[in-house]
Amino acid sequence: MTFDLLITNAAQLVTVASGGARVKTGADMRELGVIEDGAVGVKDGRIAFVGSADEVDFEDAERTINAIGKTVLPGFVDAHTHLVFAGARENEFARRIAGATYAEIAAAGGGIATTVRATREARPVDLVESALHRLDSCLGFGATTVEIKSGYGLDLESEIMLLEVIRELQALHVVEIAPTFLGAHTIPPEYRERRTEYVDLVVDRMLPEVTSRALAESCDVFVEKTAFTIDEGRRILAAAKARGLAVRIHADQITANGGAELAAELGALSADHLDHASDAALALLRASGAVAVLLPGVSLFLGEPMPDARRFIDAGLPVAVATDMNPGSCMSENLQLMMSLAAMQMRMTMEETITAVTLNAAAALGRSDRIGSIETGKQADLLVFDTPNYARILYHFGVNHLNAIVKKGAVVFEKHYANA
Ligand SMILES: [Zn+2]
Repeated sequence: MTFDLLITNAAQLVTVASGGARVKTGADMRELGVIEDGAVGVKDGRIAFVGSADEVDFEDAERTINAIGKTVLPGFVDAHTHLVFAGARENEFARRIAGATYAEIAAAGGGIATTVRATREARPVDLVESALHRLDSCLGFGATTVEIKSGYGLDLESEIMLLEVIRELQALHVVEIAPTFLGAHTIPPEYRERRTEYVDLVVDRMLPEVTSRALAESCDVFVEKTAFTIDEGRRILAAAKARGLAVRIHADQITANGGAELAAELGALSADHLDHASDAALALLRASGAVAVLLPGVSLFLGEPMPDARRFIDAGLPVAVATDMNPGSCMSENLQLMMSLAAMQMRMTMEETITAVTLNAAAALGRSDRIGSIETGKQADLLVFDTPNYARILYHFGVNHLNAIVKKGAVVFEKHYANA
């Protein structure tokens, strides 16, 4: 058989193979299906061969990457970002470092409101431009698929504009994008005294526009005492579901407020944050099939305790890890760093962190039938790391170990050295 692309002689080929299972849970999260001296062959953008380097020859392929001494993994999936925005917030960062809390800054008119003001005033072309740089950064650290939420517009025109920007990004960038409507990110300042009217606006005006133009795949709500109540979240998400959108929730980040239970009730694709979710809520989530998306970068950035991933994994939940890239609570696109944080601070094994940014993260976006593992028939999204094993990626932390990136079978990045 002739391949379009063959990556061979990999010290470790980490397949994360699930044999068709949508997610990995419990002990399966630690089963990575590693092939030593492995090879993967690509044909027509799909994986056509997975096995030992002994079984293939360089002559079998149009193009070959000799991965001797290197490690190959599935393309990473960043299942939670807010990377389209204007108005970075270095000033607030400085205030937080000096001791102000996120809540104090928000109460003084900062926080999300700062970004909303700047984003509403921004030109779409500038939003596209800045987001393209961030997508480059996501891809540069290994994310070949990225979820992006709206949510810094918070009025009909601005929310639709943000989703149009996300659509434009997909036309311009090789990273695959999963668009999410987050009109219910927070109550905008002008609706603070009439919040029901804002929920009406989201349900009666924004959602019909979003779904009739197919601008999003899923709908998210920030359920928290500083944002939306359980009843408001239920109303918005039930309406979204009735219009065919998948559902996800920012749940139990700051307080245990029933967000996880609501995610279970609505059959959400993912429940995200979950720092304060109760054991009872985790049991409900597990039964519902939702993916728990944990976000260690937020805890690091805000100086808060990390979520205890061991509790989630031992409860049988499929755990994913994402960046939550956003200007207020995690200004980073680096999924390799999030894996190291998850291992060092969230009591996850290194194997579990890899499953959490590949198969389980793909499942959080409803895509694990197509991406998230290296198995024949799946889309050829592949990463080649300059490390002799997968552990080195996490152990040697805070630097970028990527050597080559393959998206849909095309080599979209390859590191070159002078004089090499
Ligand atoms: Zn978020």
